[in-house]
Amino acid sequence: MSANSVSGAEDGWAQLDRDRPLVIFGGTFDPPHIGHLIVADDVYHRLRPAAVLFVPAATPPHKQDGSHTPAETRLHMVRLAVAADRRFLPCAVEVERGGVSYTIDTVAELRAAGFKNLVVAVGADNLAEIPTWRDWEKLVAEVRFAVLTRPAHDLASAPAALAGKFESWEVTPVPISSTMVRERVRAREPFRYLVPPPVFDFILSARLYR
Ligand code: ATP
Repeated sequence: MSANSVSGAEDGWAQLDRDRPLVIFGGTFDPPHIGHLIVADDVYHRLRPAAVLFVPAATPPHKQDGSHTPAETRLHMVRLAVAADRRFLPCAVEVERGGVSYTIDTVAELRAAGFKNLVVAVGADNLAEIPTWRDWEKLVAEVRFAVLTRPAHDLASAPAALAGKFESWEVTPVPISSTMVRERVRAREPFRYLVPPPVFDFILSARLYR
């Protein structure tokens, strides 16, 4: 498979043990940064799942203005970011599905593939918008929903509708975001160690975020 192919048939998740939990870690990943890896490591340590799936959205529901990097490029960067760690796997289902990506559809697809013990992990910055997600009440009823702590995002401000419907997981505080990486690239400021080494090389060679 070429590293640029969209098809995820060989990304490896289809072979995972169905009896263990499987973590869905979705996002835009524009680009993936070390914060994603550090918190995914904490999630793995806590749960010992079959894997943490990094699932780049095709078109994120809340970022439909077309300003993000093409989905295939973000998927490629996710593959580069997790390649060195067998516990983390890229998952192309949302990019392959195309259109606006909804977590409820991804959960349905993974359930249909035999994974019954699904855990959806999101950073605390997502908390306020969860009640706007498609079928969110069905989603939180069907999966274990983990909200990961993130600097400058307060878990205490969770919308009332979500009370009691999610778990809060304390993870390593990493004050890094994709926005910060994009801004630094654009401003010609240092960003080398904010992203995994192959992602750094790719951003430079593809001249992203200039
Ligand atoms: P952007 O700055 O473009 O909004 P981001 O850094 O939030 O991007 P996403 O791709 O949106 O990155 O993140 C994917 C998932 O990882 C989301 O659930 C997000 O909340 C979480 N996440 C990202 N960075 C961190 C971090 N430093 N600590 C905890 N969770 C994080």
